[in-house]
Amino acid sequence: MTQGPTESSWERVGDRTYVLTLPAFKANIGLVIGDEKAVVIDTGAGPGEAATIHAAVREITDLPLVAVNTHAHADHFFGNAYFAAHGVEDIWAHAAAVEAMEATGEKQRALVAGSEPDMAAAAGEHTELRLPNCTVADEPVDLDLGGYTVTLFHLGRGHTAGDLLIGSGNVLFAGDLVEEGTHPEFEDSYPYEWRKTLGKMIAIDELYSVVVPGHGRVVDQDYVRSQLRNLRQAIRMCNTAIHEASVDYTKAVPVLPYGPTQSRHLILRLKATETPADTIMPH
Ligand SMILES: [Zn+2]
Repeated sequence: MTQGPTESSWERVGDRTYVLTLPAFKANIGLVIGDEKAVVIDTGAGPGEAATIHAAVREITDLPLVAVNTHAHADHFFGNAYFAAHGVEDIWAHAAAVEAMEATGEKQRALVAGSEPDMAAAAGEHTELRLPNCTVADEPVDLDLGGYTVTLFHLGRGHTAGDLLIGSGNVLFAGDLVEEGTHPEFEDSYPYEWRKTLGKMIAIDELYSVVVPGHGRVVDQDYVRSQLRNLRQAIRMCNTAIHEASVDYTKAVPVLPYGPTQSRHLILRLKATETPADTIMPH
């Protein structure tokens, strides 16, 4: 018999605002409880994690639920079908994230083979890809939960094309724009824009003193500043390597402040997303 999650699985990080860290990818799930509705932030990597999240939610609130996906990566939205089958009508995401889910969702199934074999095989209950039906674009959206409002907004591309942030009081859910305990992932990122997006996040640091990363421990804005410093430094080093034509740019990999896989992806994405303005920026 498996032990169900307990109320103590949730860490209270602010007024009405909780975080549950899942074991498989150390993914952080958010929960904000209003007077009439509650919102779940990210739905897990498949029906298994979604069931764990749902049970944990139900230990602390019976309110109707709304879901939000911070971005289009498997471990953040593959639990959508489970939530939809358990009464969740509205699932929110950035419009570009919904496009990416549609384009890459089936391919991403392989990523969860270890923790969610049914989801990987597209076999069994709640394993269909359920796309969000409510989208955010350039304008922020206030979600009224009854007596309490959370704000969904986009500050620009970064970790992906459609990173959504969720503000609840002084708590900011940052998705994988911020990661703790592991390196940032650049595979389908926009590194130059990510730099700007983190800068915008820091510019509103008076509003949000607590930052919930997509993975790892809850951090503060100093942590976000250090992540931005690392990214700036890494981009500078890569650009030097890329633009010294005589040098094999992959030689930059060992000196970058990330792991070898992340470093290779960063270099590839810098080359793929480079604009003339980037090459002359004095960074
Ligand atoms: Zn991600």
